[in-house]
Amino acid sequence: MVLLPTLQPANNPVQIRYRENFKVGSRTMKLSVSFSGGSTSGYMAYLLKRDWEAGELTEYDSIEFVFANTGAEHPKTYEFVERCNQEWGLDLVYLEAVIDPRPRKGTTYKVVTHDTLCRDGRLFYEMAAKYGVPNNTFGPCTRELKTVPMDKYRGKDAMTAIGIRCDELDRISSRYRENNWTYPLIFKYGVRKVDVYAWWDKQPFNLGINQLLGNCTFCFHKSFHKLGDVYKENPANFDIALNLDKHYSLAGARKLGQENTPRQMYRGYRTTQDVIDMVTGDSELSKRDGNCSGSCEPHGEQMELSYD
Ligand code: SF4
Repeated sequence: MVLLPTLQPANNPVQIRYRENFKVGSRTMKLSVSFSGGSTSGYMAYLLKRDWEAGELTEYDSIEFVFANTGAEHPKTYEFVERCNQEWGLDLVYLEAVIDPRPRKGTTYKVVTHDTLCRDGRLFYEMAAKYGVPNNTFGPCTRELKTVPMDKYRGKDAMTAIGIRCDELDRISSRYRENNWTYPLIFKYGVRKVDVYAWWDKQPFNLGINQLLGNCTFCFHKSFHKLGDVYKENPANFDIALNLDKHYSLAGARKLGQENTPRQMYRGYRTTQDVIDMVTGDSELSKRDGNCSGSCEPHGEQMELSYD
């Protein structure tokens, strides 16, 4: 692999175009760093912690590092997040959504610890029971399990740092200014995927799992080909998805006349069992259907991920 040099602010048109976003004027603001548990946001957390300690983030009066748990991550992701926390002294805040089943009552959050993190899908079930099973055109999981808890924990006078790279510009939210979201890997550091790989190659530890196992293991944004590999790694990676189909496919608000039509999580109106059957068989589709390389970032444009 050819390692390209990191883009510098002076010659990176993307950084020049968006640079004003990183200036927050005379307001004193907290920087709330969203660590999603992947290699990219881990690198961002490292860079921001390093620069904060060096006194270089003078735009902000304080900094915090936050991980919002979905309860459906690979066990090694949880190990990795805690290792980063310990190695770099992030004082990481572990957040979990508190879903209120009552109508018109929004999601709140609670602070938990690494030892008490939900890992059995309960958070996902509570979300699906109220809002329905998510899919490529309906994404309450990211919103209710990550974005809302993080935004509420962060408060108003704060900026959220999101780990989206220079090679993922199409994932920048069109609402990032009004929502006080910033993308330091793009605006400040000029980091691309190759830079992330190169940096982690030199570290004494890393995520330790194939990237296809990142985010919620069964995530519907992954290609069928990747989902097949996820299944092969451990069929239990789909247990939560199977339970979602079994218990919550009719949950959530429905259009008139569709109250009894189950919502399917996977593309092509496929159930989890359909996908398992397909990826464990010799389906041509599972070999051809693309290759999602994105991560599930709160405040990212998940629905616009490309499957190149
Ligand atoms: S990783 Fe996928 S399933 Fe999990 S919260 Fe994000 S979009 Fe939803």
